[in-house]
Amino acid sequence: MLGLLDAKPQLPIDLLSLGGMSRMVLHWQARSRFCGYCGRPTCWMDSEWGRICNSCGEHTFPAIHPCAIVLVTRPGEVLLARKSNWAANRYSLVAGFQEFGESLEETALREVAEETGIKVSNVRYVGSQCWPFPSQVMVGYVADYVAGEIRVDTTELEDARWFPVDDLPELPPKRSIARYILDKILTLP
Ligand SMILES: [Zn+2]
Repeated sequence: MLGLLDAKPQLPIDLLSLGGMSRMVLHWQARSRFCGYCGRPTCWMDSEWGRICNSCGEHTFPAIHPCAIVLVTRPGEVLLARKSNWAANRYSLVAGFQEFGESLEETALREVAEETGIKVSNVRYVGSQCWPFPSQVMVGYVADYVAGEIRVDTTELEDARWFPVDDLPELPPKRSIARYILDKILTLP
């Protein structure tokens, strides 16, 4: 059995994307069988991705959860972080879920501050990616370091540190938004 997140995927990228979309649909389908308003069973809408409650008429559309993922830079260095369950020595970007009342730029500011103690500004959009693990859209940004020393939130991260741009650790695979941002901003090969 091969997973969609395998480090060395056996499938071409278009089939991986289709597999990801299928995973996302099945995840949502399994969690939208009953109306969130009245608790009665729902059924598929005829011509779009949605569920409708036959009892109260409530419409429910796919639950896709926005996350900000952000590359923090300062001259000659980037801020990278890792979680304990990632491949050994792999570092990536800080990311987190959008909360009520936030713009995604504000999510980026808050997540970097909460997880690493670093204050950033000048948050600029780079790109986005469907991330079906299980139901996110990752919205990618780059931001400038302003102030602060690294203070790792160990409930979220195993480590965070500044890396010189010419001495980076193992990075996420090319098909990920994290790597896309790194490659684009640092103009890596
Ligand atoms: Zn209902």
